[in-house]
Amino acid sequence: MYRRRVFFGLIAAVLIAAIGLTYYSYRNTPTERLVILDTMRELASEKMIGIQSEIAKAATDMFERVDLDNLSALGAQMETSPLLSVQVLDIDKKAVSGGSFTKRTPSEDEPFQRLFRDKVIPDLDLDKVMVGERRTLHKYYGDLSYLFTCTRKLQDGKWFFVVVETDITFLFASVLPNFFDNIGRHVYQIVDRSGELVYGLRFGGGPDADVVELPFPTLTEWRLRVAPRDANLLASRASRRATLDLVLIGTSLAVILTGFVVMLISMQRERRLNELKSEFISNVSHELKTPLSIISMFGELLSMGRTRSAAQATEYAEIIRRESVRLSRLIDSVLDFSKIERGGNVYEFADDQDLAEVVRRALDLSRHRLEQAEMELDADLADDLPLVRIDTNTMTVAVLNLVDNAIKYAAEGKRIEVGLRRSHGGVELEVRDFGPGVPADERNAIFERFYRSRTVRLKPIRGSGIGLALVKHIAEAHDGEVRVRPGAGGEGSIFRLWIPAPAGA
Ligand code: ADP
Repeated sequence: MYRRRVFFGLIAAVLIAAIGLTYYSYRNTPTERLVILDTMRELASEKMIGIQSEIAKAATDMFERVDLDNLSALGAQMETSPLLSVQVLDIDKKAVSGGSFTKRTPSEDEPFQRLFRDKVIPDLDLDKVMVGERRTLHKYYGDLSYLFTCTRKLQDGKWFFVVVETDITFLFASVLPNFFDNIGRHVYQIVDRSGELVYGLRFGGGPDADVVELPFPTLTEWRLRVAPRDANLLASRASRRATLDLVLIGTSLAVILTGFVVMLISMQRERRLNELKSEFISNVSHELKTPLSIISMFGELLSMGRTRSAAQATEYAEIIRRESVRLSRLIDSVLDFSKIERGGNVYEFADDQDLAEVVRRALDLSRHRLEQAEMELDADLADDLPLVRIDTNTMTVAVLNLVDNAIKYAAEGKRIEVGLRRSHGGVELEVRDFGPGVPADERNAIFERFYRSRTVRLKPIRGSGIGLALVKHIAEAHDGEVRVRPGAGGEGSIFRLWIPAPAGA
């Protein structure tokens, strides 16, 4: 009882652990959605680094070329540069003469110069810029945003500043399209602080949660936004993934549960078999003891000459003979059974055998027992039967067992019918009795080894529970089968043993 409790406790623990573990891993595996969002974020920051380095490269190129002694050369430089303007300022942040270059028309340049002087220079906070440092300022002045990059330089012992202006229009027209092709699996846009679209297309539909947003390190007024091109892609993938997860988890739980159920069933079977085995041992011992004590009792009577007449002596001797036949039959069947149980080839098949002959012999052997039970035998063996490939010895054992059972369990029916005929490409032996029959729920079990029917166990009918198991084994070894069904009107039982005949027989 204690061990049983521990065992079931352990099973419950394993089940709970398995369910817990599955739940835990289900909760903690990143969902496909998160993985996709992460990929989008990585992709976006890679693109941003690319854009930044293009901006920085244009500025650094220009910084390197500025030479106070040859400022006019910068004019030609500007032509090919992606910058919109370049200003060279002295240490007091005043424009160095001949140090202003622009792609703007003079009428556009004038207000810009004013803006630059009044607003941009203070905002740049040039005093804090170190030599070689590159500092950027991204800011809206009015409706327009400007991006400046500045540095401090030293030439012939003189400090000066260079401020370059990135051409935002050029950026939008020629740089960004190289990075954001808008034909891949993602769509991009740049928005300002208030969320207004600055560059790119509006995103269609899609939940907001599927948009990744990153701030630009230099273009501080703007943020880059990425979304999957197919607005419902994530949702559909997420639901597919969830279904897949559920199916996988369900399957593994089902496998674990099935394993346990199979284990429990086989344990149950094992236990039942053990019970049946011990019952078998007590049955067999009883079976051995009864004839032995009868033999010894009548043997003793005979040896002591305690018989009233010669007829009585003959009767005693007959009892001894009958019991010893029964004893040897039992021992034979136990030996046959154990031989078959041990496996290996115990059959000696021979071709072209006459099954009717085997049945006739078995019926002859049973005749005496039939008379004793005062039963009538009605045999109907067809004479057009095909010759079959059988082991005649074991086949005789099978027929004897079926007839014996009919005598043992259906004696009150007073009649046994044995039939042999062609059926379904083979030969079928039928043993019909008119006894109590086999309850429907035991019709399979009676063919199991050691099984004895519930009703029989209460009656003083001797048996070991291996007879029908032996019959079944013999039938199957002949590629045949044995079944039982109730007789017409539910009276008695009909055992049918079928074996195949060779093709064309
Ligand atoms: P045994 O006869 O030694 O008990 P068997 O394997 O021959 O073992 O039979 C198994 C059980 O099947 C019997 O215990 C009996 O309950 C049932 N049985 C067999 N033959 C018949 C029959 N003709 N009528 C009713 N019950 C039967």
